[in-house]
Amino acid sequence: MKDKVLRKLFLGFIQLHILHHACKEPVFGLWMMEELQEHGYEISAGTLYPIFHNLEKSGLLYSIEKVIDGKVRKYYQITAEGEEVLKLAKEKAMELIDELE
Ligand SMILES: [Zn+2]
Repeated sequence: MKDKVLRKLFLGFIQLHILHHACKEPVFGLWMMEELQEHGYEISAGTLYPIFHNLEKSGLLYSIEKVIDGKVRKYYQITAEGEEVLKLAKEKAMELIDELE
């Protein structure tokens, strides 16, 4: 039960991380996975990739394929709508942190 609630909460945080980074530069799955692991999130590719796909399907990210060392790698970047969502979510997150402190 506790795990279920935490997973839901962390899913929101993870989506914010993704939007934040995709706003700065194009990101790809493995890089994002390592970034999240550095923040203490234990996330597998099997969990992370569907999150990327959902954000893309929702119109918040778009993907481009680049060939790196002969291999195709999918990079995600933020859309205008994604930037809007990021801005709103960030405001709420800041406000919340302020209150939690
Ligand atoms: Zn991050």
